[in-house]
Amino acid sequence: MPIRHLDSLQGRYDAIVIGSGLAGMTGAHRLARRGWRVLLLEHHHQLGGLATAFKRPGGHVFDVSLHGFPYGMVKSCRKYWSPQIADSIRQIKSVRFINPDFQIQTSFDSTDFTRILIEKFRAPPACVTAFFECLRTMNYYDNSTLTTKELFEEFFPERPDIHRLLLEPIAYANGSTLDDPAITFGIVFANFMSKGVFIFQGGTDTLIAEMTGCLRAAGVEIQRNCLVEKIYLETDASGIPRAGGVRVCSRRDGGSRDIAAAAVLSNAGIKNTVLRLAGAENVPQELASAANAIRVNNSSAQIYMGVRTAETLPRTDDLVFTSGAKPFSSKELTSLHTTSRTHSLYYPDTRPHARSPRYAIVTSLNQHWADWAAMDADTYATHKARLTEEAFASLEKLFPDIRSKVDWVETATPRTVERYTRHWEGSSFGTKFEGLKVSMELPEFVRGLFHAGSVGIIMSGWLGAINYGIIVAARMDAFLEKNAAR
Ligand SMILES: Cc1cc2nc3c(=O)[nH]c(=O)nc-3n(C[C@H](O)[C@H](O)[C@H](O)COP(=O)(O)OP(=O)(O)OC[C@H]3O[C@@H](n4cnc5c(N)ncnc54)[C@H](O)[C@@H]3O)c2cc1C
Repeated sequence: MPIRHLDSLQGRYDAIVIGSGLAGMTGAHRLARRGWRVLLLEHHHQLGGLATAFKRPGGHVFDVSLHGFPYGMVKSCRKYWSPQIADSIRQIKSVRFINPDFQIQTSFDSTDFTRILIEKFRAPPACVTAFFECLRTMNYYDNSTLTTKELFEEFFPERPDIHRLLLEPIAYANGSTLDDPAITFGIVFANFMSKGVFIFQGGTDTLIAEMTGCLRAAGVEIQRNCLVEKIYLETDASGIPRAGGVRVCSRRDGGSRDIAAAAVLSNAGIKNTVLRLAGAENVPQELASAANAIRVNNSSAQIYMGVRTAETLPRTDDLVFTSGAKPFSSKELTSLHTTSRTHSLYYPDTRPHARSPRYAIVTSLNQHWADWAAMDADTYATHKARLTEEAFASLEKLFPDIRSKVDWVETATPRTVERYTRHWEGSSFGTKFEGLKVSMELPEFVRGLFHAGSVGIIMSGWLGAINYGIIVAARMDAFLEKNAAR
């Protein structure tokens, strides 16, 4: 009898983790290091979720979400992963803005931003100091109803140019808008401002390979090509539902199995977890309604360009925020025909281990699922080709001969994000603020069911996802201590 993909799985684990995004991997790692038997199930053939890289003919390697994260990653990776991972984190040197309001180059930290705000934007120094002081004291538990727009108006009234400088990069980093709670801008912006913008040297593939090594060393059983179709709920004596295990389906041979667990940690998006995997009909009505009401964040489109072997690009900036919009608006930033795009430039030192020095450019746009979801095949192809052409036209202003240097180009859309991650409406940055509450309160409605992953804007991004994985794993560990036999 041939051995089927899922035959090697045990019938029961202490913890099953659904999804290998950074929150899922970090949670699995933490739980295994606490001594629990952990099974990590990922539907894709690669681990990492959105933190991923892919290869293309001609020796091209593209990073999907390695554009920049705050310095806090160093501490989180050292504490919860390994010194090797933390030691590979490097600061990027130059961030540039090119738009109708201003052109500036910056190291993107509070010292440089203070200088720019005072010298270039002529903002009163006292207002700049007070603004940064306000950000420093912002706290998730403040429960303030202040919006980002109100925050900006308080310190820089009627200065749309300054509002643009402050929000545009954060809108790219986590999808936040002027109407979102100020905390969703403030915490992320302050994190970046502490020391600047960082990336992982070696590329995302190296990072995920190192994390996979840590997971295996900690005893996590990892299974790829495994789609979790259902989270089983049982009802305990008090009538409260409780997670009892999952049904998993192999994408390799189509086989499926039911696997039991004392607790389940889902990294599959909070809406998917509650409404599809547990099932809206199986969870308390209050939870289903709250999950239904969660708004997801916008999605993305990306144009990946690979520079041919032996060809070079001049070393200029690492991140370039470009936009033709005047005035800046969150609506324009996410519209189908937006002129706002970020170019991430990858020089050979991104992957110093590569056999030959390589350059790549990834152009990112924020997009809405609704604009792309209903397109027929021809319209879809036309808009993808338009995005590619517009990206080239924008890049020609930086590198006039870029077309002749690129020998691989491909474009991803919100549909691509949805296909690879299964996220609700292809969301790139999880959910709006209300998703965090539902995620945090999930185990009160369904015992033994936990969610970790991008929610509430502040728990999204690489740093947010890793930190949230740790927070949730600690709560799950306490649950297991009470409810599972070692
Ligand atoms: C284009 C783009 C650029 C970005 N750039 C940056 C950046 O520069 N810096 C930054 O910090 N952040 C960036 N982000 C955001 C960041 O990548 C994410 O916030 C973070 O990686 C999300 O981690 P996560 O743990 O929430 O899970 P995800 O990465 O969303 O992963 C979830 C995993 O669950 C799996 N899964 C889902 N359903 C199932 C199921 N039923 N069964 C099994 N597996 C399942 C998925 O396949 C996936 O692997 C970017 C995102 C995008 C889309």
